[in-house]
Amino acid sequence: MPFPQPLHEYRATSDAELDSRIVNARKTLGEKALILGHHYQRSEILRHADLTGDSFALSRAAAQIRTCDSILFCGVHFMAETAYILANSPENLAARNGKSVTVSLSEMSAGCSMADLATEQQVETAWNAIGQIFDTTKIVPITYVNSTAAIKAFCGRHGGLSCTSSNAEAVLKWAFAHGDRVLFLPDQMLGLNTSLKMGLTLEETAVWNRKDEQLHAYSGDPQKSRIILWDGCCVIHLRFTADAIAETRAKYPDVKIIVHPECHPSVVEQADCVGSTSQIIETIAASKPGTVWAVGTEWHLVERLGKTFSNKTVINLGNNPSVCRTMALTHLADICYVLEHLAANDPVNLVTVDAVIAADARVCLERMLAAK
Ligand code: SF4
Repeated sequence: MPFPQPLHEYRATSDAELDSRIVNARKTLGEKALILGHHYQRSEILRHADLTGDSFALSRAAAQIRTCDSILFCGVHFMAETAYILANSPENLAARNGKSVTVSLSEMSAGCSMADLATEQQVETAWNAIGQIFDTTKIVPITYVNSTAAIKAFCGRHGGLSCTSSNAEAVLKWAFAHGDRVLFLPDQMLGLNTSLKMGLTLEETAVWNRKDEQLHAYSGDPQKSRIILWDGCCVIHLRFTADAIAETRAKYPDVKIIVHPECHPSVVEQADCVGSTSQIIETIAASKPGTVWAVGTEWHLVERLGKTFSNKTVINLGNNPSVCRTMALTHLADICYVLEHLAANDPVNLVTVDAVIAADARVCLERMLAAK
């Protein structure tokens, strides 16, 4: 059968055949290709990944591997953008004699509903309106890495930086040392959980509402706010509730509850531990055999943790597994499709970032690394 074939042919192929063709394509490509797999991908996908991790750690690691010409990112769109930006930095391009790295996304329709809640136009509108109330030269914009390259570029242009779910506190401290106020994009929950942990009060916190394009205080006067939160969220993590924690504790008296900081503050407050995906994995790995964990994060990771740490009990927090549908869009057929096209020197599913946006977004990401 001639290949590479159109995508629908791959979709009609058995998993066993796809597995073996992926292995063959991988061998043909050798170290010229790198497969990155986000923790929320399904296990049959991660089995083929060269590196697994959270989005920023993966992009950063990939950027340091100089032998690879092509990256396949099994994840969602903003992750492929970040990999493209970091892998094609001026230093990396110089080291590769000007040759850029291609980045393919496993499934082109895999977006992130949180990242989609902050468009460049919405953020420019908000910035101008906030500028009628405060001096924006003294506001430091921060964007969670779960955002588009355009939003990272906006922050880079305005003296701001990115953060991850593990360094948000360090980044907020940096921002308050460099300005009077912070605009935190796009995840309201990560911003709120982190600022409350740092001792900021609700009186010092306001929310920008995208719909009415107004600043709203949690309590009191929005003009007194020190942190302005974008009203975005991850619906996957907002499904976990304080009621589920109470029910889990009643059923498993010795349970430890660990949740991601994208969860609602009422959940974070009741949990035993809070951490990024990597921190959740490390915490459970380091716990004693026999420990019972209820985990508030994406279901595919929770399921895999249960299988990996078979000497512990790892369960989902609550009755309903919380699946990120766009992460789950990637199938073996997509991996095989991209790899066989790469092997045939006909790359597909390419994600690129405009050079000007990439340069500003890189400033935003590099500032985060320097702020730690
Ligand atoms: S889990 Fe939430 S933040 Fe992560 S990719 Fe899915 S929608 Fe986006």
